[in-house]
Amino acid sequence: MAPVSAFIDSNFHGGAITVVSTDDVRALELRLRPDNASEFAQWFYFRVHAPRGVEQVLHIRGVETAAFPKGWPDYRACVSADGEDWRRTETSFDGSTLTIRHTPTTDVTAYAYFAPYSAEDTQRLIGRAARDPRVSVDILGMSLENAPIHRLVVKDPTNKGGRPPLWLVSRQHPGETMSGFFLEGFLGRLLDPTDSAARALLAAVDVHIVPDINPDGSRRGNLRTNFAGANLNREWDRATPEYAPEVLAVRTALEATGASQLLDLHGDEALPYVHFIPADMPAPLLERRAKFEGALLVASSDFQTEHSSTLGGPNNPRLLSHWATRNLDCLALTLEQPFKDNALRPDPIYGWSPARARRLGVDMISACYVDLVK
Ligand SMILES: [Zn+2]
Repeated sequence: MAPVSAFIDSNFHGGAITVVSTDDVRALELRLRPDNASEFAQWFYFRVHAPRGVEQVLHIRGVETAAFPKGWPDYRACVSADGEDWRRTETSFDGSTLTIRHTPTTDVTAYAYFAPYSAEDTQRLIGRAARDPRVSVDILGMSLENAPIHRLVVKDPTNKGGRPPLWLVSRQHPGETMSGFFLEGFLGRLLDPTDSAARALLAAVDVHIVPDINPDGSRRGNLRTNFAGANLNREWDRATPEYAPEVLAVRTALEATGASQLLDLHGDEALPYVHFIPADMPAPLLERRAKFEGALLVASSDFQTEHSSTLGGPNNPRLLSHWATRNLDCLALTLEQPFKDNALRPDPIYGWSPARARRLGVDMISACYVDLVK
């Protein structure tokens, strides 16, 4: 067969790939493009322009040096014709090359490590929520590249108590885009006036949400770092204005309000399970954690407590959740959603997906309600 050439575009929000050869769409040669100022590489997002109906075979070379090599076995890449419906496609890993195969029915096909969540998506999330009179939006500080770090504050007039708020922080690791979809589900239910658990929760605490603490990393298609190469979730006890102003901005706000509970939203490249990372905490908080996890087990059949990563060690104050446990005396948890799939309940078409992340966000309200109200 005569070669069919392709054009590959990654010059857009969140785009990331290094193109080596596009001479033949059946043998595209690619490499991962690392974060702009660090060695971390794993995230990819690009569009292939080539005639429909011709199988596309993409070889991404050298992926054994990625940030999480264990992320490749059993991984299946995400493809989309319209940027809305992201399905998994045939993907194999031979120890150094990730090979992705897909026969498109359209002339432009997007490929991504996970369904992307752009700055526009974040602005739509904020804008939809802000139509509710109980929601206000402020700016906690600026990123290194001068993008605002937004905070949504949900404050219901029925909350007359003085308890510190429930906090959620998203996108410390900008490539972990499932957190954006999670927040859509969480906020949708939180603001639903017919949902009695959400109403009871808002009568007990205000809710503060940082939908994207790392807007520069998100725009640049970084996996784990900000513009200066900082892994924000290793900066909570040592952030400086030069290296991690994003952490300083949110930390200052957190210290001003305190927190009743804090959820730090992440994705796990390797482990195919929804889980919270382990943490040392005083006995009363461990009791709350057990109650919280018990409630989430009932609310969400995607959640489990048998499998978890040991990211950052059992107690590392550079991590937001561990820092918050120590300094704010609140139940602080790092939520991990899978990039691959939930091995307990695999979905052959979508894997772990935006829809399932949204659903987890919906179900999380039940666990917050049990911890903070019941
Ligand atoms: Zn993470």
